Amino acid sequence: MHKYISENNLKALLDHLIADGKRVIAPRMDAGTPLYGPLADSAGIVLDQLPRRSAKETFFPVCEDIMSYDKEGQQVTLRDVSPASFPETILVGVRPCDAAAIPVLDAVFSWDYKDEFFLERRRKTTIVGLACTQADDACFCTAVGLSPADPKGSDLFLTPAEGGGYACETFTDKGEALVNNHGELFAEPNGAQALPLAEPQTEKFDLKKVKAWLDDHFEDPAWDSIAVRCVGCGACAFLCPACHCFDIVDEGTETAGKRRKSWDACGFWKFTHHASGHNPRDLQPKRYRNRIMHKFKYYDDKFGQTLCTGCGRCIRFCPVGIDIAAIVSEIGKK
Ligand code: SF4
Ligand code: SF4
Repeated sequence: MHKYISENNLKALLDHLIADGKRVIAPRMDAGTPLYGPLADSAGIVLDQLPRRSAKETFFPVCEDIMSYDKEGQQVTLRDVSPASFPETILVGVRPCDAAAIPVLDAVFSWDYKDEFFLERRRKTTIVGLACTQADDACFCTAVGLSPADPKGSDLFLTPAEGGGYACETFTDKGEALVNNHGELFAEPNGAQALPLAEPQTEKFDLKKVKAWLDDHFEDPAWDSIAVRCVGCGACAFLCPACHCFDIVDEGTETAGKRRKSWDACGFWKFTHHASGHNPRDLQPKRYRNRIMHKFKYYDDKFGQTLCTGCGRCIRFCPVGIDIAAIVSEIGKK
């Protein structure tokens, strides 16, 4: 279904949804930083900046309780957190690099173990994607086969139009329902041209060649030079829309506590530290090698997909200037 929505009507749509009790998540300023988060009203939405962190935390929060316990005398009470309590959500203004990562994550969260914390949020969320009209030097979605107007992962996709407002296209029943339930706010397409789209400059990777080199070079001196300066801060994994490792820890006392699920990162020394004291990834280059292997080989081996959407966040914010696009491009030319 193709429609058009004006900027004012998009804001009216968000206000209707909020008034209706829906949770609306969108980019907004949080202490001076653009982040996806719950909107109190449409006035707070910021659609001209890529949020610092990705949209994955809508489905996979930084940290969440998954159960709690109490002990009184010999009586222990366990309380599961029920995913049924998660609210219906509309996630709006999602850039193509963020939206495309969400179906990639579906594969791992619905694999042998079904992670209902992720999957129930997926079921209850409608994703409204937004085409990019600006790219910076770190953006490289086109190098991994996506584009600034790729609707992958979006239920409804908005493309900014010349003269204001957005061309809208629906891709799923959820997207159609959102439009049909607020039909008075949408108009028929008005024939306006799309605004010129962003043009990321990185040359397209030959992902088959990249994987072929990774298949044969688990041990290679190149890993030392690629990653010797990585300080293992984990920022790249935490900012990434596709990284999904987590830890589960119990926090509490003998009489009460919680079991919590928190983001983790393969860049951390402790990530593979065994109770015996042995660490199979004892040096930082081995940990960075895992990051590249997981994104461009292991995930492809397992699920037939690449675990990078070219959002560029890990390039923009790596404290020591490690550039994954340059590394992968170089591997593809070996
Ligand atoms: S690896 Fe880097 S560029 Fe690729 S999706 Fe993750 S943060 Fe974005
Ligand atoms: S952000 Fe940079 S320094 Fe930090 S773990 Fe990632 S590659 Fe290493």
